[in-house]
Amino acid sequence: MRIQLLMTAGLLVAAATQPAHAQAPAPVTPDSLVTAAKKAAGQDYAGTFLRICVAPDNLTPRPAPNPAAASRTVPDRANWYAQPYKVFDNLYFIGTKIHSAWALTASEGIIVIDTLFDYAIEPEIVEGLTKLGLEPRNIKYVLISHAHGDHDQGAALLQSRYGAKVVMGAADWDATLQRPATAAGGVPKRDVSVGPEGSAIKLGDTTVKIVATPGHTPGTLSYLFPVKDGTRTLTVAYSGGTAFNFPRRAENFAIYRDSAKKMAEAASAAGATVLMTNHTEFDGAYDRARLAQLPRVAGEKHPYETDGATVQRYFEMTGECAEAQRLTMN
Ligand SMILES: [Zn+2]
Repeated sequence: MRIQLLMTAGLLVAAATQPAHAQAPAPVTPDSLVTAAKKAAGQDYAGTFLRICVAPDNLTPRPAPNPAAASRTVPDRANWYAQPYKVFDNLYFIGTKIHSAWALTASEGIIVIDTLFDYAIEPEIVEGLTKLGLEPRNIKYVLISHAHGDHDQGAALLQSRYGAKVVMGAADWDATLQRPATAAGGVPKRDVSVGPEGSAIKLGDTTVKIVATPGHTPGTLSYLFPVKDGTRTLTVAYSGGTAFNFPRRAENFAIYRDSAKKMAEAASAAGATVLMTNHTEFDGAYDRARLAQLPRVAGEKHPYETDGATVQRYFEMTGECAEAQRLTMN
């Protein structure tokens, strides 16, 4: 006991005489970033945190899917088909249980955001719009968050059949146009190409601000747009790419991290209080679309509405997860 007391006293003296620099904050490490990201994720983004911070996809490289593969198996419809839903007064869910596609209605037509795998285009987007009383011929723009098949295979059909203009990041257009004509869903022609400076699409009374957020793919685009909930107008921050399935290189994680910061700043400046992504697992789109059908008591928020801080935590978390991975590679 006496020895222990002496040792404790010795440690206290040692601590008291440490030079000032010992008080500096703990260094940033992959572990400290993962801990910070877990805190930022909270209850709201726990699944996304797990997907990119705990078990990132690119830890074990997978072969890239072959877009030209002739024999494609359509998964069992019972596992993906979702009814279409009006979610806000000007925003309709026309996605599957797994992937989101949205119809944003404006005074002069419809903007479709993301277009699903080819097997889901007719049942979800074309028939979904019709079921909702919307006319597919009124689709004026198709915004593609990034050129992966689960979001872009419907673009060519909506362009060729309805004359919709397809909007994509410049680098993702370059990748898309290299696909063979036999690629699933076909290959759209280049319409609107968005560079690193971003852009805006205006259709009548509605403007979608486009923020270039490379990382998930080199041409990933994220969006800010208004949604109407009764008399209120809310701003959506739509994150265009999430998973870490890009080549596992330090510079790619740095690009992703910087895009998360850029989008956080854009979402803050726009006053965004709704966070959306293009996979239902990241934003609960399929559940929230159905919850939005229920009556609300007076003062109850829309199931998609959060607050500015909650939207910010999403981008803090994704940025910290990317930086944690980057630091493991130095
Ligand atoms: Zn993707």
